[in-house]
Amino acid sequence: MIIVMTMGATDEQAEAVREQIRAHDLTPHDNYGTQRVVIAVLGDVAPVRDHLMSKLSSMPGIESVTPISRPFKLASRESHPEDTIVEVLGARIGNGSLTIMAGPCSVEDREMMLETAKAVAAAGATILRGGAFKPRTSPYSFQGLGLEGLHLLVEARKATGLPIITEVMEPGQVDVVTEHADILQVGTRNMQNYSLLTAVGKAGKPVMLKRGYGATIEEWLMAAEYVMSAGQPNVILCERGIRTFETYTRNTLDLTAVPLLHHLTHLPVIVDPSHATGKRWLVRPMALAAVAAGADGIMVEVHPRPDEAKSDGEQSLTFEQFASMAAALRHIHDEVKTLIKDPFITDGPVTVGEASKH
Ligand code: PEP
Ligand code: MN
Repeated sequence: MIIVMTMGATDEQAEAVREQIRAHDLTPHDNYGTQRVVIAVLGDVAPVRDHLMSKLSSMPGIESVTPISRPFKLASRESHPEDTIVEVLGARIGNGSLTIMAGPCSVEDREMMLETAKAVAAAGATILRGGAFKPRTSPYSFQGLGLEGLHLLVEARKATGLPIITEVMEPGQVDVVTEHADILQVGTRNMQNYSLLTAVGKAGKPVMLKRGYGATIEEWLMAAEYVMSAGQPNVILCERGIRTFETYTRNTLDLTAVPLLHHLTHLPVIVDPSHATGKRWLVRPMALAAVAAGADGIMVEVHPRPDEAKSDGEQSLTFEQFASMAAALRHIHDEVKTLIKDPFITDGPVTVGEASKH
């Protein structure tokens, strides 16, 4: 349920509404980014809906009370019709510009990190990526440089001016990653790690939430809801492929997620064609397709010598490939702005369970 206060509503009137919500054992949550006071009601509203509605109907200063039909509330476009724009160090994500997050899979050493950072910055990357704590399928694979990796990312930020994004794998790492990084990344394997989601939600920095490789879009948005309800409104969603029966690619890139998410949520949507495909030569066409589908940006892995990479070399682009792709992406992005909206069709209704209906 969303309560929109009138323009002239007083602080006391808004507080009385919050009190009324608390009196029903629910939690009031102020929405950000709007001129009026907008209060979302969090909790199990259904059993007390009628009673709460009748109480609210006699209170002054309320313009409208609207139920939210989706299970995700703060993440829902119903509760926040305007797009969320995430701002970090002058970079804006979700404002219609093209976000390009690029860098190595893992921070391997100082030289390769700085070399890569400068190359991607020169080619137009807007955010620098690099893994310091690496979630690896095998315990025998390179696990990342940890704190030293974070220090190298900070050095790379100084050298390029680009904001940095890096993965945090467990609640115990949240403080140290928050201290160094500009955006906290939650990886696919942790998308439903609820204690981690709550911890990053309380950390005070924007969070990029990658889609769990076995997660539905609704489960993914519920995970975003954890981060938001813990206090962080700036959540970025990243589609990175899901596991299907197909084995020619590492994962299957679900590009329908892009327009679906724009319909369901106000949060920015990024696509990672590197982990989605696992193959360097498939990265460019999928990145272009993602931008053509309306993604707010992409995240892509780049390495000075992909064949020598300590992780994900097969899917990492060379500097030359990245520069060429970035130029192509900007071209598509400029074109797509005027082409993406179908002039004859407005967004249709979106319901879950489509597969079982046909
Ligand atoms: C990454 O981006 O470094 C990563 C490990 O990706 P994912 O969590 O999508 O596998
Ligand atoms: Mn990787």
